[in-house]
Amino acid sequence: MSNLRFKALELLSQKDYRKENAVEVPAKLSSLFCENVFSEETMREYLTKEAFMSIQNAIKSGLKIQRDVADQIAVAMKDWSISKGATHYTHWFQPLTGSTAEKHDSFFTPFESDRAIDRFSGGMLIQQEPDASSFPNGGIRNTFEARGYTAWDPTSPAFIMGTTLCIPSIFISYTGETLDYKAPLLRALHAVDEAATDICRSYFDKNVTKVIPTLGWEQEYFLVDSALYQSRPDLVITGKTLLGHSPAKGQQLDDHYFGSIPTRVMNFMKELEIKSIQLGIPVTTRHNEVAPNQFELAPMFEEVNVAVDHNSLLMDLMARVAHKHHFHILFHEKPFAGVNGSGKHNNWSLATDTGENLLSPGKNPKKNLQFLTFFVNTLKAVHDYADLLRVSIASAGNDHRLGANEAPPAIISTFIGSQLFGVLEELEKVKDGKLSPEEKTDLKLNVVGKIPNILLDNTDRNRTSPFAFTGNKFEIRAVGSSANCAEVMTVMNAIAAKQFKTFKIEVDALVESGLKKDEAIFNVLREYIKDSKNIMFEGDGYSEEWAIEAAKRGLNNLKTTPEALSRELDPKFIALFEELGIYTHREMEARNEIKLEKYSTVIAIEARVIADIARNHIIPCALKYQNRLIENVKGLKEIFGDTEYQTLAKEQMSLIRDISGHVSIIKVEVENLLEAIENAKSKSNSREMAESFCEEVIPFFAKIRNSSDELEMMVDDELWPLTKYRELLFTR
Ligand code: ADP
Ligand code: MG
Repeated sequence: MSNLRFKALELLSQKDYRKENAVEVPAKLSSLFCENVFSEETMREYLTKEAFMSIQNAIKSGLKIQRDVADQIAVAMKDWSISKGATHYTHWFQPLTGSTAEKHDSFFTPFESDRAIDRFSGGMLIQQEPDASSFPNGGIRNTFEARGYTAWDPTSPAFIMGTTLCIPSIFISYTGETLDYKAPLLRALHAVDEAATDICRSYFDKNVTKVIPTLGWEQEYFLVDSALYQSRPDLVITGKTLLGHSPAKGQQLDDHYFGSIPTRVMNFMKELEIKSIQLGIPVTTRHNEVAPNQFELAPMFEEVNVAVDHNSLLMDLMARVAHKHHFHILFHEKPFAGVNGSGKHNNWSLATDTGENLLSPGKNPKKNLQFLTFFVNTLKAVHDYADLLRVSIASAGNDHRLGANEAPPAIISTFIGSQLFGVLEELEKVKDGKLSPEEKTDLKLNVVGKIPNILLDNTDRNRTSPFAFTGNKFEIRAVGSSANCAEVMTVMNAIAAKQFKTFKIEVDALVESGLKKDEAIFNVLREYIKDSKNIMFEGDGYSEEWAIEAAKRGLNNLKTTPEALSRELDPKFIALFEELGIYTHREMEARNEIKLEKYSTVIAIEARVIADIARNHIIPCALKYQNRLIENVKGLKEIFGDTEYQTLAKEQMSLIRDISGHVSIIKVEVENLLEAIENAKSKSNSREMAESFCEEVIPFFAKIRNSSDELEMMVDDELWPLTKYRELLFTR
């Protein structure tokens, strides 16, 4: 082990990866865009007009693709991908494991004894049957049908990765339950489209026929040298360090943020960008993040389904490209204690097929009323379903970030900026029922009409809020870096859909009772503003005062994943998903079960790893050093005699004592930890098990770590087996 640390450091000192892996960027990156995507342009080239129209209708209006047309599309996809060097195809999907999955099948099909063709048919394009038994299913699969199948999602374009044609797909059981992230997301997107389009057409703009939710994510990550990474068993197995004293120089100086990007990292980024652009992922932004060796990448926003696929694809691509540059990429939310963790902001908005952003104020009062409608409804949706949003971002890794002064707390609140807040306060005063012509004019001129100006010079930014309005979109800031965006996007779009439907019903009822449309809208919005006030918070979300204030307001602060998950099966949430046809009750139970199990598994693995490292690496190393000290003390005694050595060996003897103290703490706490693991595992259901891991296992981590980190400071650096934080974080 200690060997491994020094071998890794030595290797690193000998190599100059900056030169070895220098990357040339082609002059015109734009010419590479979508090179490896079965894009609209490629389709036009390869498909008959009929097939082209059919797939466009499927993409734009969800119309079914006929089997014979699917055959044509399959042949075109095959010809195109073979011309690009592909030999295999796969249904590319996102099971609940959290990573992407693919099972490659060859185009090559032998027939007779000595002949073969390259074959790909509509049937193969539409459906594939991977062995579903090893994917999480939360008990769904066990009941009576073990198989599952993947089905082509034509709304997300096929692409080529290496030599494989990848076909974005959903994954469902034979009994029809969804087993992945994409299928429910598509349903939620459909629901919000329907509900939002209805509002647009009925009250604002007859020309709108589709509303498309948009997502622009920002992905944070760490890069660690591969050899150093390999020398840390905790990083390799759990994706995070479980032990390690913080370096003398951490992020205190904030000198990394937006600083110049190290050359070796730059090479990685350049290659990543080229590959992303070829895959149609419109990456545009890159910079250093707050912590040392932490970076961020963001694309142009896209429609949600494609953006989610692109984020999953990019994470996969990042790991591959990092490997080439002798880096290992860390998506864990908290790989290093005492150093900022990583998140993934999800910027969300709604666009119409007429090219408008519904969360962007317009040029006239009518457009502004439309903006206010969607804006206030979104706030109300977040208010009503705050816990569900919290659930959607819950994971063992994210628990370390939320509320730790580096990410928003686990309390869901909204930030809209003082000026918009002022507008809502004005709207709150709107009189009940009918308005006089003067009141209407006043409202239009002085409240609604002012919004564009407000937003133009609105520089209000609050980075401590989990749900912040940033001028023309909401930014969901509490998502973990390793998460699949689909989960939070499914919830966001579902709660928006539900809220939009309710709004439409309420406004229509008022119109029915004799109010004008505008009046009805104002009346309903006024009530929503009142209702949603208690989640609106403009102050510092990281502060202790907010936690206290939020408690007074009756807001939940679900600090841990088990706490959050205990809210997931609230009848209100089940009713929401059932009404919108997104999840059945059974699917929700299954998903809750999967998440609880995953949580327990993650903590159990971390616990085993910390116990192993503490016993097999830390204690032996500490004793070795202690023996050296003992030898030293003995020697001093021999040379200087009984009295004088007492003074000379004072420090050594105190160290010997301290080491013994820490060694025995570690030993005792590791035993306690192992007992706690066994106890947790013996729980009869997954909820109790997760709670036990959370409350009874996790506390031992810090106890073991404290003593280990103290020892790290005492023991001779040459003996210390684990690569240190300063080496992991500052070596480039
Ligand atoms: P910051 O880091 O300050 O949050 P960035 O400019 O890095 O800001 O990120 C803004 C993100 O918002 C980008 O990913 C961008 O694609 C996204 N975005 C911009 N407009 C929209 C929109 N209408 N819908 C969804 N996302 C959007
Ligand atoms: Mg951001």
